[in-house]
Amino acid sequence: MSTEIPVPSLNFIEEIIARDLKTGRWSGRVHTRFPPEPNGYLHIGHAKSICLNFGLAEKYRGLCNLRFDDTNPTKEEQEYIDAIKEDVRWLGFDWEDREYYASDYFEQLYEWAVKLIRDGKAYVCDLSADEIREYRGTLTRPGKDSPWRDRPVKENLDLFERMRSGEFPDGSRTLRTKVDMAHPNLNMRDAVMYRILHATHPHTGDRWCIYPMYDWAHGQEDSIEEITHSICTLEFENHRPLYDWYLDALGIHHPQQIEFARLNLTYTVMSKRRLLELVRRGHVRGWDDPRMPTLRGLRRRGYTPEAVRSFCDRIGVAKFNSTVDIGLLEHCLREDLNKRALRVMAVLRPLKVVITNYPEDRTEELDAVNNPEDESAGTRKVPFSRVIYIEQDDFREDPPKKYFRLAPGREVRLRYAYFITCNEAVKDPQTGEVVELRCTYDPATRGGDAPDGRKVKATLHWVSAAHAVEAEVRLYDHLFIREFPDEVEEGRDFTANLNPDSLQTLTGCRLEPSLAAASPGDRFQFERLGYFVVDPDSTKDRPVFNRTVTLRDTWAKIESRMQQEQ
Ligand code: ATP
Ligand code: MG
Repeated sequence: MSTEIPVPSLNFIEEIIARDLKTGRWSGRVHTRFPPEPNGYLHIGHAKSICLNFGLAEKYRGLCNLRFDDTNPTKEEQEYIDAIKEDVRWLGFDWEDREYYASDYFEQLYEWAVKLIRDGKAYVCDLSADEIREYRGTLTRPGKDSPWRDRPVKENLDLFERMRSGEFPDGSRTLRTKVDMAHPNLNMRDAVMYRILHATHPHTGDRWCIYPMYDWAHGQEDSIEEITHSICTLEFENHRPLYDWYLDALGIHHPQQIEFARLNLTYTVMSKRRLLELVRRGHVRGWDDPRMPTLRGLRRRGYTPEAVRSFCDRIGVAKFNSTVDIGLLEHCLREDLNKRALRVMAVLRPLKVVITNYPEDRTEELDAVNNPEDESAGTRKVPFSRVIYIEQDDFREDPPKKYFRLAPGREVRLRYAYFITCNEAVKDPQTGEVVELRCTYDPATRGGDAPDGRKVKATLHWVSAAHAVEAEVRLYDHLFIREFPDEVEEGRDFTANLNPDSLQTLTGCRLEPSLAAASPGDRFQFERLGYFVVDPDSTKDRPVFNRTVTLRDTWAKIESRMQQEQ
């Protein structure tokens, strides 16, 4: 008999933390941070980082800070800061009072820079940006020392102070580390610490005209906040020696930088720069366009925070870059919405049906189940009357094989209502298009079953014409036609792969009357069609719904195929 208790496996970062807790490396502390640069809105990739950092803090009873890495005033805005806070909260995480700004540390960073100058570890360099690049060398060629490298400490101190006080124009000087211009790691070849930039900062205003570079700021910020595990994406792996060098040179608290693979998703782009381009060039309606992979785009599309968190859990944390199938994200969403979304009936492309043997002045209230997955959601009344709408797609004049829905002479079930038989298709004499069906119903089948045991092969959703709410419905598809939007012919950019049919707007859709009371953000399953959410563009007279996701689960299919192949 096995006595082994299965231990849930840890990802590599959890293994590091578990080991540190055992050895007492950080005196039992776990302190992480999520450090966005406020130069755009958060996307699903950031969600991975948020879930990871806040998740580790939760799991190991530690803390996670929210820190704005606001070191580049030309691209950063208060609007983004506010939006980032809103989105992190929406995801379900709380930084309590630990909201920090890199800009709050500018004075401390300056003092530390002065210390490095005094210690002979930094110097003021007069090379231009282009010259610095040229002097840096390449992976195969060592760099060349800057002619300003051996400036006396006193001169460096004087120039650096004057840089700060605004004496010099943008780009004319930098402060650099003095490490090794032949170092095999290019980041170690006298890295730039400060550049001159006469720009107004959202937090510090015009107080500064020199701004720290990311590498110089980041580790020191981590140190000030006494972070233990500084988790970042793989691109920073070869910045780690510099991260370590700064902290060692200053002799201050030294967190461990750990890199993990960033999230990439098929059929979309993830960098803020790209997303900003889509917004600026008008390819989408804004950062919150429901086709965007931003958290506000996903929210407007109808995503739940639970679905996003479950997705982040499932993709795991690894050390190699890969691209996740967007089908997995949609799968997590369906799984969550299936549990919580109320079922309703809505007809997107209406076809009028007159039930000729149903009395003209009659209306019945039929019982409909709100959520078969959740008994406590109860039932509601749906009105039925002589004229109803069904989906155009649910009728074929000339049905192909295996098409079991309505056709001339055929009987089908109307969900929660009756069996109806189609007797006649009325056509528009000009276009030949079917515009109305004339059917009869069997009063004995009320509720959806025939007492004589006769079967039908299809059940259709429907909406009573006299009671229907008219709405606009927006259907979305992938924003790009290719799995990897960056695959383009030479000379073109990723926008060449935009999907021209990513948004389809339907008007004149008919919804069951219970939806008249829905408000923005409310989510529903339209039976047989998918999950939908009320869009903020809705008005009282004209509701607007977004299709969040269809019911068809391509990921479930992929998964079952994989299982069969095993
Ligand atoms: P982008 O390339 O989209 O502009 P970024 O890395 O420049 O992203 P930051 O605001 O600096 O954006 O990111 C904040 C945090 O989120 C960082 O720790 C970063 O590593 C992480 N992050 C950004 N994009 C992803 C992603 N696709 N997957 C996982 N983590 C990410
Ligand atoms: Mg960045």
